[in-house]
Amino acid sequence: MNRKKIVSGIRPTGNLHIGNYYGGMKGLINLQEDYHAHFFIADLHSLTTHPNPENLKKNVLQIARHYLAAGLDPERSVFYAQSSIAPEISELHTYLSMVMPLGDLLRCPTFKEKAKKHPDNVNYGLVGYPVLMTADILIHNGDYVPVGDDQLVHLEIARTIVRKFNLLYGETFPLPQPIKENAVRIPSLSGQGKMSKSDSQDSFVSMDDSPTEINKKTKKAYSDPKRVYKNDPGNPTKNGCNVFHLHSYFTDGDRLNAIKKQCLQAEIGCVDCKASLTSSILSIIEPFQERLRGITDHDAEGILLDGKIKAKDSAQQLIANVRKKIGLQMV
Ligand code: ATP
Ligand code: MG
Repeated sequence: MNRKKIVSGIRPTGNLHIGNYYGGMKGLINLQEDYHAHFFIADLHSLTTHPNPENLKKNVLQIARHYLAAGLDPERSVFYAQSSIAPEISELHTYLSMVMPLGDLLRCPTFKEKAKKHPDNVNYGLVGYPVLMTADILIHNGDYVPVGDDQLVHLEIARTIVRKFNLLYGETFPLPQPIKENAVRIPSLSGQGKMSKSDSQDSFVSMDDSPTEINKKTKKAYSDPKRVYKNDPGNPTKNGCNVFHLHSYFTDGDRLNAIKKQCLQAEIGCVDCKASLTSSILSIIEPFQERLRGITDHDAEGILLDGKIKAKDSAQQLIANVRKKIGLQMV
């Protein structure tokens, strides 16, 4: 059967947290069953924030190992670093940039938000970020793109580009469709918003944390501020207690019900409840870390190299077709 293609990238910014794993990576990995997945590590995209060159390669390999430990199957999916097809991606990006209206890019909410947050780093690449993302999708004739709500606007830009390009040069690219990402948002340990790797280390559980570190973090996690003494009954609901909210994702049904009952009847205090959250989190993280230890940088490098060969082959064919459509006579 000819599986539809999906394309998805992640920036190698390191420090994946349990939210990225549970809400992002695991869902993506499941998609490889039904789709021909193209997963890439977006090292070109990461250049907008100027990562340290010595750390960049290390981070790419680290993310690759995480993907593999999460279950990415390099036989079934194409898995590569974006920079390994940089000439093809950059060439396509140039062609696409010619049809993309600048005004739409400058009005893009994610651009405006980043420009406001870091006014000293509003570079040309940042404005063109959605055009580069479009090249990532179209370089494989991607049919579907898994996106969170915040990324929908980028996909709309990709669709605008496809429509304009196809109108100018004839039917060339499929119109990419969104696959809505799992809407699960793991809350921050601080109780403020969701876990985010760009927030303080204490606000999330990293997939690399040791049991001691996890224990230290959950101990400090924000819980029900109204429950002052152990004898006070708690409010074990998603809105009433952040620690219970976290339990609801990581603790299985029977144990979750037991915790709820004990909290309502003040039979357990917050200290015990947090210790129990640690063990729920460990039951996810420990098997993951064991798989991670079994994958070396060398293994990851070899797998990315195989992926590069597959990705480059289809990218070169696509570029040859695009040049022909545009009328570029390169020898
Ligand atoms: P940053 O702070 O740099 O934006 P982030 O933690 O928000 O980092 P992203 O790189 O933006 O992570 O997202 C990577 C993937 O993880 C996406 O699929 C995103 O939907 C998912 N994700 C991010 N944070 C959470 C969370 N707290 N719960 C569930 N999924 C999440
Ligand atoms: Mg984010």
